[in-house]
Amino acid sequence: MKKSILDFTKSELALHVKPSFRAKQIFSWIYHKYADSFDKMQNLPKSMRESLEREFSLIPLKILKKENSSDGTIKYLFELQDGKTVESVLLRMKEAYTDEDGVNHSAKYTVCVSTQVGCKVGCTFCLTAKGGFTRDLSAGEIVAQVLALKIDNDLASNRRLNIVYMGMGEPLDNLENLAKAIEIFKDEEGMAISAKRQTVSTSGLSSKIDKLGELDLGVHIAISLHAVDDKLRSELIPMNKAYNIASIIEAVKRFPIDTRKRVMFEYLVIKGKNDDLISAKKLVKLLHGIKAKVNLIYFNPYEGSEYRRPSREDMTAFQEYLVNHGLLCTIRDSKGIDISAACGQLKEKSSQKRI
Ligand code: SAH
Ligand code: SF4
Repeated sequence: MKKSILDFTKSELALHVKPSFRAKQIFSWIYHKYADSFDKMQNLPKSMRESLEREFSLIPLKILKKENSSDGTIKYLFELQDGKTVESVLLRMKEAYTDEDGVNHSAKYTVCVSTQVGCKVGCTFCLTAKGGFTRDLSAGEIVAQVLALKIDNDLASNRRLNIVYMGMGEPLDNLENLAKAIEIFKDEEGMAISAKRQTVSTSGLSSKIDKLGELDLGVHIAISLHAVDDKLRSELIPMNKAYNIASIIEAVKRFPIDTRKRVMFEYLVIKGKNDDLISAKKLVKLLHGIKAKVNLIYFNPYEGSEYRRPSREDMTAFQEYLVNHGLLCTIRDSKGIDISAACGQLKEKSSQKRI
């Protein structure tokens, strides 16, 4: 199998192609002009184009399935070079509009990307976990998801977008490739997506939160907390036995955070499990002293899931409690709910169909 050229940072590529300004030209063909073959890279010598063609693949995935939601969310199922599949989602956060002064503002996009095929963490509420773990994604396969989404939606190369590492897999369990992908996204001569626009969501591998912090990449983190006591958290996220709540909170406190920003805590609300006000009260106490923002997520049920979606009343009461006690708190709007919203569901649907 050919190696993907998307696996290379610009400086790595410069070691391969001489003289080194060629790396800059190749980056521009890939990330600005969306070239779909090396042959199109006209300002490279023919011999170089041919040897690139022999050595590398360009975009190591293809669109297997695509679902459009009425709110503009588009969910993709991609096939990787070895036939494995992963999901990515393009979320339109805000429609394009023209303000009172007649200035046009473009739509805002966020891309939700996967970092692994499957996941080792094994959360009991998560569909991705059901299929077990297959393999890590390479940096190039992470980068390719965003590139493919931009190309498929005709998004200009300089269109600003945010990246959230919230698709399938645990990003910190694939830290090396994740860090490289973050670097490639950041490259000013590539996609130029600054680290401030990238958020790594983790189920709480505390030691890896520290490692990510030490790399000082400038990215944000989101913690999938979901529970306020270790007993319930260990039921939902078995790995919590090794990395308990206290260890996560300590790691968050050590993490280098832009002073203007907040750490996001995701709290998946499950009916009858963690949707009560006693939990809300404990959550306020737990996050005391942290510049935090809480994002409440409705549990999204799927066929055979043992948990249930909370009522809107309980959700709102939970949110009100947090807000009244000084915490910033939003409820994640169920984007794409009509197109199998939670991670892993599109993949699951299509593999059921194949049976
Ligand atoms: N592994 C990382 C990132 C991927 S999971 C993490 O756990 O943070 C991304 C998010 O999807 C997590 O916050 C997870 O809690 C949420 N999720 C998983 N299954 C879900 C479901 N059935 N309903 C709603 N959210 C779900
Ligand atoms: Fe893995 Fe995140 Fe799913 Fe847990 S919620 S199994 S960490 S992808």
